[in-house]
Amino acid sequence: MAGRYAPSPSGDLHFGNLRTAVLAWLFARSDGKQFHMRIEDIDEQRSSRESAERQLNDLKSLGLDWDGEVLYQSSRYAAYTAALEKLETYECYCSRRDILEASRAPHAAPGMYPGTCRNLSPQERVEKRKELAAQNRHPAVRLRADRTSFAFYDRLRGPCEGAVDDFILLRGGQEPGWAYNLAVVVDDTYQGVDQVVRGDDLLDSAARQAYLATLLGAPVPEYIHVPLVLNTNGQRLAKRDGAVTLPEMLVDATLPEVFARIALSLGYKDINSATQLLEVFEPGKLSTEPFIYY
Ligand code: GLU
Repeated sequence: MAGRYAPSPSGDLHFGNLRTAVLAWLFARSDGKQFHMRIEDIDEQRSSRESAERQLNDLKSLGLDWDGEVLYQSSRYAAYTAALEKLETYECYCSRRDILEASRAPHAAPGMYPGTCRNLSPQERVEKRKELAAQNRHPAVRLRADRTSFAFYDRLRGPCEGAVDDFILLRGGQEPGWAYNLAVVVDDTYQGVDQVVRGDDLLDSAARQAYLATLLGAPVPEYIHVPLVLNTNGQRLAKRDGAVTLPEMLVDATLPEVFARIALSLGYKDINSATQLLEVFEPGKLSTEPFIYY
């Protein structure tokens, strides 16, 4: 079975992304697993091939290797369609504003879809579809979930349970597109991924994804949500925080020096290559605290 790294190609990877990629590779390789690379380019407006190439080159420069071809999600739409057909779903005509307003209602859980379009009659659906078509918009497609929470296991946090709602599988609007949760689950299954290492900003998605995998008859992977890199204000590191991408860091440091910084952020001193780090890596010792980037 395999681990993976799955970047969205919307710009260069920064220190935090690179550190998560190194961790994903370390966990997979130290467990004797294969390691796959997947480019998550379903958001066609924000993705570019050029970004993907730059990301892959940066990961290679850091000494990460992967098995098999890189999988591009933009080549997988037929598989997403097939998965969608297996699920209980319904069309949703809500705008972002409708959802925001409905979720302000006293009994609605924040951030959860309030179910506005779940029980519309066929006649109401015909009308809503017409209204949207007049605005040149497509309905979204949502999962008809049969529960509101789902349990999963995270190697750093132990047993977890998270909220599940009627989340979107196919995004609507003027440019419909596949939704992240569906694409991730279908592709992790396709690539034989049984270990998902990623930043803990995605911890909230894990219950939905584990539930979706179960509905699709696929095994649920082991999750390892690793702590993020924060800036000195305690916010998630971003490109605006300065010299954080590999090309930027290489302006005044060598590759081994940049690698040493990543290794140091993981608690390992004087390590300047991926192979060296793999020799000493102890998965059980990873800190669960965020790392502050100076
Ligand atoms: N493509 C997502 C990102 O770059 C990661 C998805 C995942 O690891 O499940 O944030």
